[in-house]
Amino acid sequence: MKYYSLNKQSPDVDFKEASIRGQASDKGLYFPRSIPALPPSFFDAIGEYSKEAIALRVISPYVGDAIPAKELERIVGETINFEFPLVRVSDNIFSLELFHGPTLAFKDVGARFMSRCLGYFFKEKKNKAVVLVATSGDTGGAVADGFYGVEGIEVIILYPSGKVSSVQEKQLTTLGKNIHALEIDGSFDDCQRMVKQAFMDEELNKALFLTSANSINVARWLPQQFYYFFAWKQWQKENRTLSGALPPLVVSTPSGNFGNLCAGLLAYRSGLPVDHFIAACNANDVVTQYFGNGKYQPQPAKPTLSNAMDVGDPSNFVRMLELFDSEYGALKDLVSSYSISDNETREIISEVYSKFNYLPDPHGAVAYAALIRYLKEHAGAQGEGKIKTKDAPHGIFLETAHPIKFYDVVEPATGRPVDMPAAIRDIMHKEKVSLRMGSAFEELKEYLLRR
Ligand SMILES: *Cc1c(COP(=O)(O)O)cnc(C)c1O
Repeated sequence: MKYYSLNKQSPDVDFKEASIRGQASDKGLYFPRSIPALPPSFFDAIGEYSKEAIALRVISPYVGDAIPAKELERIVGETINFEFPLVRVSDNIFSLELFHGPTLAFKDVGARFMSRCLGYFFKEKKNKAVVLVATSGDTGGAVADGFYGVEGIEVIILYPSGKVSSVQEKQLTTLGKNIHALEIDGSFDDCQRMVKQAFMDEELNKALFLTSANSINVARWLPQQFYYFFAWKQWQKENRTLSGALPPLVVSTPSGNFGNLCAGLLAYRSGLPVDHFIAACNANDVVTQYFGNGKYQPQPAKPTLSNAMDVGDPSNFVRMLELFDSEYGALKDLVSSYSISDNETREIISEVYSKFNYLPDPHGAVAYAALIRYLKEHAGAQGEGKIKTKDAPHGIFLETAHPIKFYDVVEPATGRPVDMPAAIRDIMHKEKVSLRMGSAFEELKEYLLRR
């Protein structure tokens, strides 16, 4: 598979080059030259395939011969060695729980896949690679865990001081070894800007082998397709009518940088039979605005309860356009977008908990709220749990983080403490180690050169 830069000013590269560089030399995001088609027979038989077999089938064409088959099989196996349960919340609404990985966040999948691919590519290199990453919350923990102890790779994580949850902060500041945390006095957009500037800085790039682990990296982006297929496998098994037909299916993805949703759209372009997607946003609504008026106007990020989605200029938006050849109409036919306020998010958490005894985290709650709004708008009285006709649409929302990570939001909404998983309990006692820094790029540069 070849990858081209969306800025069209640099040469095509293979999977290895694309994942080592992260971004093309013309600063464009990499995009696959072709989108592999999965035949209907694959979906007919999907119930008989293991999740490893599905994942391998999906990712192999994208990796091409950059990694030998046996090695790729190992990498995929390690990437997805936990559960991806689809949980029925009400009659027609399901939660795809993506928080059963080591850092309790969906980003584990992308981070584990990417770290192992880079580990393979750098095995024989003499110079250490430096992975530089900005996080608004969950990326840092997932990347830190994914790369922890991987030889030949140092990881430097920038996060906005005071704007990530205490659990998230512990996850990225307590590992040590090859993982280093920089606590930035600024917003996530500041962190992202500093990282982007570092990649453009000639002097830095001469001194260090810099690479990115943000969702722009194809090795993080592409494996996120897996769980859309896993969801569909589970859903189709339980929801076929006697005649074998399936109801229409709507999938709602809580979105920040839009890597996750773009992976779902890529899966769709490969043949995944989903009828509609929802781009669920919090108050950071540049994409929702775009769907409303066709204009893309980046904004400064606003802090919200679903902080991993506090992004004012989502980096994968350009990939979303590319997937539809920038055809606004085609994109709007397949995707709808809603912006959900913090108040609504709190209300949804208590409502879903009291009605269905299911506890969403703030990100999942945004996705749930957007899904319900879409279903209400498009199916008259068929809201949550009220199926009026046989072919009422079904909805899957992606639960991208474990509610414990946002206990300060979730507990007041339900009035009950959340059980703390053992992995989190241990981490909360560990000492935070971070380096505090201003948001000027020069400070970061100096730190990187001094290392
Ligand atoms: C990162 C993240 C998101 C947003 O994902 P994108 O791919 O950036 O759109 C949503 N929820 C959680 C919990 C996250 O960590």
